Amino acid sequence: MPELDRRALFGGAALAAGAVLASGAKAQGIKTPFSVPDTLIPIVGSDQQFPVRRIYCIGRNYAAHAREMGSDPSREPPFFFQKPTDAIQNVPIGTVAEHPYPPLTQNYHYEVELVAALKSGGRNIPQDKALDHVFGYALGLDMTRRDLQRAMGDQKKPWEIGKSFDRSAPIGPIHPVDRVGHLGKGRISLAVNGAIKQDATLSHMIWSVAEQISKLSEANELFPGDIIYSGTPENVGPVVVGDTILCKLEGLPDLSIRIV
Ligand code: MN
Repeated sequence: MPELDRRALFGGAALAAGAVLASGAKAQGIKTPFSVPDTLIPIVGSDQQFPVRRIYCIGRNYAAHAREMGSDPSREPPFFFQKPTDAIQNVPIGTVAEHPYPPLTQNYHYEVELVAALKSGGRNIPQDKALDHVFGYALGLDMTRRDLQRAMGDQKKPWEIGKSFDRSAPIGPIHPVDRVGHLGKGRISLAVNGAIKQDATLSHMIWSVAEQISKLSEANELFPGDIIYSGTPENVGPVVVGDTILCKLEGLPDLSIRIV
């Protein structure tokens, strides 16, 4: 068998096995010593839930936020980091979810973001086809232990402890594209205890959702279930226990958490 065919065959078989495991080993009759919960996000207008494969986040995607983080937005190519899937904290519409203040930080920051959820993927996806892969959109928070993120950056170490911790990704339900269309222009804002802190429009993003998908697919093959936090506007800042965060994005219901 030619090498390419063999690779295609075994690559395909490995992918199929991965998909089976991801959808629940128990349901497939596979024995495991313990179970690990799937990460799921409710889908608006459906009894189905969105299974999360990976959480990607773009950094410094609004010029004013890049400047407040100390970088030059005109020269920087896009960069991405990940959060673990179980960092998801689902926040139902119309509720204020209790969000625990995490350990190890004295400077806990909010970042309100549009999240794009993919129904399909690929490698080297061209920009003009990228939005075809979007299943829907959600409003999310990229919660950040800013002091730890900065300290690690200063030491040229990974950001992980500042960004990729338990419950660092509160998110509302996913709104399918056929209900809300593609979101790229609306106002996005965040208030703490009723005072507006972040206030911008999605059109201020340096890299659009389509560009993000295209760029990210050059680095990693994308798959159904991948979600992308599309960056936060300027004026990030701290919260403390007792604060309530209210996020708004034109076209989607509000998202709210209280720090406990
Ligand atoms: Mn962010």
